[in-house]
This record gives sequence, structure tokens and C-alpha cells, in this order.
Amino acid sequence: MRLIRARIDSAALRANLQAIRARAPASRVMAVVKANAYGHGLVPTALALPDADAFAVARLEEAITLRDNGLKRRIVLLEGVFDAAQLAQAAQLELDLVVHQPLQIELLERFRGPRPLPLWLKVDTGMNRLGFRPEEFRAAWERLRGLQPAPLQLRVLTHLACADEADGGATAEQLERLRPLVAGLEVELSIANSAAILAQPSTHASWVRPGLALYGVSPFAAQRGAQLGLRPAMTLESTVIALREVASGERVGYGGVWRAQRASRLAIVAAGYGDGLPRGIPSGAPVLIGGHRAPLAGRVSMDMIAADITDLPPVSVGDRVEIWGSRLAVEELAVAAGTIPYELLCGVSQRVPIELV
Ligand SMILES: *Cc1c(COP(=O)(O)O)cnc(C)c1O
Repeated sequence: MRLIRARIDSAALRANLQAIRARAPASRVMAVVKANAYGHGLVPTALALPDADAFAVARLEEAITLRDNGLKRRIVLLEGVFDAAQLAQAAQLELDLVVHQPLQIELLERFRGPRPLPLWLKVDTGMNRLGFRPEEFRAAWERLRGLQPAPLQLRVLTHLACADEADGGATAEQLERLRPLVAGLEVELSIANSAAILAQPSTHASWVRPGLALYGVSPFAAQRGAQLGLRPAMTLESTVIALREVASGERVGYGGVWRAQRASRLAIVAAGYGDGLPRGIPSGAPVLIGGHRAPLAGRVSMDMIAADITDLPPVSVGDRVEIWGSRLAVEELAVAAGTIPYELLCGVSQRVPIELV
């Protein structure tokens, strides 16, 4: 028996990929599986998505893990490579490389590899993080086109900073900066992350890059995945390991920050910041026990939380507890914890076993 586990619903992952395709029917889908597939497990998630046209990761190590586990499909390395050894390894693994700065072009110019590489030239249209500035774009494009041997493919990508905002003004500005750069080039383009896929059809272009939406979670503060036709893929589930009764006035947990206002019953649940729950989740945030919402009582500790079950039907040691997932939206806990669902999902720690169902 496992006290805590992250149950991953592979049917939900596939349904979300289909929902994304329905939203962007003319685009190919690059499934973003960086950061251990947003906590869902890099290899099981990729293997559960045989219909994705490509996968995207941030770091070379993630791509190596996928290839080591037999993944043959296109893998795009979103941050590219940073030295000649990484480039040689990426070439050997037949990765697609994002090229976002001159250092990477220089590495490619010096590289004498066995075969040409597929490249994605990244242009910075306003995020101001990675990518060539619009005025540098043309020179970078020409240098990449002039590589010997020529790149297997040369595509263009940009990233949106504000796609989740209802007012699409910032996105429109980014598109406006991109448009003249690619006008007249017969080139495949990729712009859209999850929020843009769901809210800004004009960004869909040749390739979309969904991360969060693939996992069934909403990138918008005001909506849940279910409202967007998505199914949450992860249910973080734990177990009641002890029961406790406290008298009115007694305190619970580190610092004694929660104090019973009445005689109370508590369930102690095996989930803590050692499993990835932020310590900042406040008392009152819900967990689900036997289908009923029970508010947290006191601080999150490393291995445990306490939930107030005074108003619940009887609870037993061994009962399952949903921390977030199919019935308790991770979006809701993120709001309570003052964070975003991305951080909660990516934060699920290594000691939590992943079970793909
Ligand atoms: C992480 C990432 C994505 C996916 O973003 P979501 O908001 O999770 O859909 C897309 N593109 C790039 C470049 C990324 O780094």
C-alpha cells in the first residue's frame, strides 16, 4: 500500500490532446513535457501520448531520458545547447534545437556533425527573455541558412508573455512584431502556448506548444480546466494515517497556529512539503476525504497535514484523501496557496510515486 501517490489518467492526457487538436485543427502539436511533464512523469506521459507530433523539453538531460526510454519521435530542445559537447550529443540523439543567441550559431558553424540538424530560430517579440531581437532576426536567419551542411529544417518560434490576459493587446503587439519578419518566408511558425491555443486562434500557426492544457488544467485565473473542456490528468492522493480529537482551545501543529474553536475531530494525512505541498497553504484550504471537503488545520509540515473533519461523516485510518485532482481542482488550491497550478504540479516531489492508469 502506498500512502501517497500521483495517479495519472492516461485517457485524460489523450482526451486533452484531442481537445487541443480540435481547438487548433490546422496545427501540429508539440507536447511540452519539460519539468518531469509538469510533475506527471516525463517518460510515462510521453509514452501515453503516441499521437503527439513532437515533444518539447527545456534541458538536454530530459531529452536524453526520453531517447534512453525508446522515444523515437521529434524532440525539441527549447533552450538549445550551450557547448560543443551538448551539441554533439543533441545531434547524435537527433534532437531539434532552438537557437536563441549568437553563441549557439557559433557552435553550429564550428560543428562538423554526421548529419544536418532541424533548427528553430527563436525571435524575441516582447517576452525579453530568450531569442533574437526583431532587428537581429534576419542576420541570424541568413547565418543559419548558410550553415554547412544546411539545416535539415529551419523553423521560427516565439513565445507569448501575456496570452492568459483577457485583453489581448500585448499578444497583438507581439504578433505585429513577428509579422514583417516572416512575411514572404515559406517557414513553419510556432507561437502558441496553452493560453493562446485556448483563447487566441490567430496565434495557432503551424505548430502549437501546449503544456498546462495537456494536463487538463486551465492557464486562466478565472477558469478551471473542466470549463474549457479539459480533464485533469493528475490526482494527488494520500491517506489518513491517524485520527485525533482536540478540545476547544487546543492548538494543532508547528507553531500552534491553528486553535480549535470547538471540540474538534482531525484527520492526520500523509502529505507535506516533503511531497511538494507548499508550506504556505493556509488553514482553511480544502482537501477531499470520502468526497467531502475538509479544511486544513494548522501548518503544512514535512510529512503531514491535519484536516478538520468535525463536520464530516465518520472517517477511518486508511481512508483516501484527494489533495487535488479530478474532484478538487488544482486551480483552487493554487489560489488558496497564493501560487499558480504550474508550480503546484511541477513541485510534486520525487518521493511521490507516479501511477499511470
Ligand atoms: C513551457 C513552455 C510552453 C508551454 O506553456 P504552457 O503555458 O504550459 O502551455 C510553451 N512554449 C515554451 C517556449 C515554453 O517554455
